[in-house]
Amino acid sequence: RIVQKSRIRVKGREDRATTDHVLDPRTRLILFKMLKSGIMSEINGCVSTGKEANVYHALSGDSSQHLAIKVFKTSVLDFRDRERYITGEYRFRHGYSKKNSGKMVKLWAEKEFRNLKRISMAGIPCPTPLHLRQHVLTMSFIGEGYEAAPRLKDAELTPEQAYYAYVDCVKYMRIMYQECQLVHADLSEYNLLYLNEKLYVIDVGQSVQPEHPSSHEFLMMDCKNVNDYFSRQSVEPLTVKELFYFVIDDRIPNSDSRLEELLRGVSQRVVDGSAERIAREDEDFMKTQAFAPRSLFEIEDVDAVIQSNSALGNAVQLMTCGLSA
Ligand code: ADP
Ligand code: MG
Repeated sequence: RIVQKSRIRVKGREDRATTDHVLDPRTRLILFKMLKSGIMSEINGCVSTGKEANVYHALSGDSSQHLAIKVFKTSVLDFRDRERYITGEYRFRHGYSKKNSGKMVKLWAEKEFRNLKRISMAGIPCPTPLHLRQHVLTMSFIGEGYEAAPRLKDAELTPEQAYYAYVDCVKYMRIMYQECQLVHADLSEYNLLYLNEKLYVIDVGQSVQPEHPSSHEFLMMDCKNVNDYFSRQSVEPLTVKELFYFVIDDRIPNSDSRLEELLRGVSQRVVDGSAERIAREDEDFMKTQAFAPRSLFEIEDVDAVIQSNSALGNAVQLMTCGLSA
C-alpha cells in the first residue's frame, strides 16, 4: 500500500522531504521487493516513529505471522551519536565510511540483526530476526494480534510483577554479557517490552562487545537506568556496584544462587538500616568506574595521569597498586 500511495520518483524536492518520513525511493523499492517476493503480504501503519528508525507492523507472506519492520533512517545527522558506539569495536576494525551515510545505516541495521541473533540464541526473550535488506530489518512482532506490546515504561505492573521483572532483567543482563558477549548500551524501560508477564529486550543496534573501550561505562549506565526504573516501582534493587559485578564476573559457579544471595542481602540492608550508607558508597563507585579505563594500554602516559590527581588519576592509581615496578 505504501508503495502504491507514494509513486516512485527519482529526483526532485519531494524526495528529500520524504527522507524525514523514512520512505525515500530506495526504501520504497526495498519494501516493494519484499512484497513481491512474498516475505510479507501487507505492510501497515507505523508502530513507532523514532529519531533513528521507524517501526511498522506487517504480515508475513502467508499472513500467518505478525512482523515488525524496522526501517533505519538514512539522514546523516542521526549518525553523530552512533559513532561512539562503533569506534573502537573489534567487529568494525576495518572501519566504516563516514561520508557514506547509506553504508553506515546499513551497517547499523546489520549490527542490530546480528545482535538480535545472538540474544535470541541465548534464550533471552527478544524479537526473532528474520530478514535483512540494506537498512530494513524484519523481525517477529512482539504483541497480541496487531497490537504491539507496551514498553516497560507504559506497562502497569503490580509490585510483585515488578519484582519478578527486575530479577529477570538482571539475569538477562548477565546472560547477554557472559554468553552473547554484549552490553546492551541503551537499556532502560524504553527498550524493554512487557507482554504476559515477560520482558523482551529490543533495540540492540548500539550494543557493544566487552572489549569495546567504553563497554563498562555503558554497562554502568544500563545498571543505573534499570535500578532507577525499578526503584520507582518500589522494588528494592541491588546496588549499581553489585549489579555491575554480578553481570561481569565470570567466576560465579551458580549465578542463580548468587543472585538469591545478593537479593537476601538487599532485604537485610533495609532491616538493619545500612541502606543509606550503601547508597552513598554506590555513588562513589559510579564516579570511579565512569573514568576507569579498561586497561592500562589505553593510557599513553600512566605516570602523568596518576600525578594529575584527577578522577582518572585515582582510578589508574587503584589499577596499578600491587604492580611491582
Ligand atoms: P528506536 O528506539 O531506535 O526508535 P526501537 O527498536 O526501540 O527503535 O523501536 C521503537 C519502538 O517500536 C519500540 O519502543 C516498540 O514500541 C516498537 N517495536 C520495536 N520492535 C518491535 C517488535 N519486534 N514488536 C513490537 N514492537 C516493536
Ligand atoms: Mg528504542
